[in-house]
Amino acid sequence: MTRPILARIEPAAFRHNYLLARQHAGGARALAVVKANAYGHGLLRCAEAVRDVADGFALLEIGEAMRLREAGFTQPIVLLEGFFAEDDLRMASMHGISAALHNDEQLRMLELADIDSPLNVLIKLNSGMQRLGFIPSRLPEVLARVRACGSKVGQISVMTHFACADGEGIDDQLARFNAAAVPSGLPRSVCNSAALLRYPQAHYDWVRPGIMLYGGSPMPALQSATEIGLRPVMTLASRIIGVQTLQPGDRVGYSATFTADRPMRVGTVACGYADGYPRHADTGTPILVNGQRTRTLGRVSMDMLACDLTGLDAGLGSSVTLWGEGMPADDVATAAGTVSYELFCALAQRVPVIEG
Ligand SMILES: *Cc1c(COP(=O)(O)O)cnc(C)c1O
Repeated sequence: MTRPILARIEPAAFRHNYLLARQHAGGARALAVVKANAYGHGLLRCAEAVRDVADGFALLEIGEAMRLREAGFTQPIVLLEGFFAEDDLRMASMHGISAALHNDEQLRMLELADIDSPLNVLIKLNSGMQRLGFIPSRLPEVLARVRACGSKVGQISVMTHFACADGEGIDDQLARFNAAAVPSGLPRSVCNSAALLRYPQAHYDWVRPGIMLYGGSPMPALQSATEIGLRPVMTLASRIIGVQTLQPGDRVGYSATFTADRPMRVGTVACGYADGYPRHADTGTPILVNGQRTRTLGRVSMDMLACDLTGLDAGLGSSVTLWGEGMPADDVATAAGTVSYELFCALAQRVPVIEG
């Protein structure tokens, strides 16, 4: 007998979501954002699922980009934070990997680099998020210096990233980006998943959907994943491995944060924060037991958590879905004060993964 927890990852759902993203993108092409091991889903597993349809990929590490190249992916691959050292730069240029160019150190490195093959760069503008990028007014200067690199540089694009595409909107940032007057002929890329779905006027040449490919709504407060037509890719499943019968006044779990106010039945699930379940999920976080929606009770432990079985058709050995098919990750994330991105990325190494 093995511990009953597992993550089921469905490549066909990833493919479905990618095709849906591309459909929304209209004429724009879509970089599948597969950073952080494809948001915890497995880089190659996800890339394979869209091998014949993906316009390109975006991620962070040159090593991950090389894994895609070595697996035979010939599409554009973009390093979203660019290169960190001259070796990365050389490797990227040799293998046709594109790099964001967002600070003066990278610009200097590029100017001094001794490379034979042209590097494709995406000049990144800080349009208001205050994270990465040149201020938009510097575009002409940066562009001139990049162009002066001559044959060391191939395709030049311009990108930015939005802070509030899932909420108040992109008007301010888009206006600042547009004020930079990107010369016509240079591809532009500005949309994450939320902007892709909400702001068709900003699609430009390349969109960069991430979370929606994994079946998370990029804006759960506005539209659910189901309403968007997304399918969950990861289902985290386990079983009930203990059942307790409580009298009023009995208390549950570490620090005894939940107290029964009536006779109850409590199930212990083989899943805890060391599996990637958020410890901050309080009593009341939704959970599916034997196909029935119920709630968690008390503190999440390292290896276990408790749920309410009172009145349910469930007992020892019943199947549990923490999130995924039948239990939207967004509902769990919202109850736990986080986002589906964090749930997916936190899936722990010790959880066995099956495909299908
Ligand atoms: C992560 C990331 C994305 C994807 O964002 P989602 O909200 O997951 O769609 C797009 N662009 C950049 C620069 C990113 O870092």
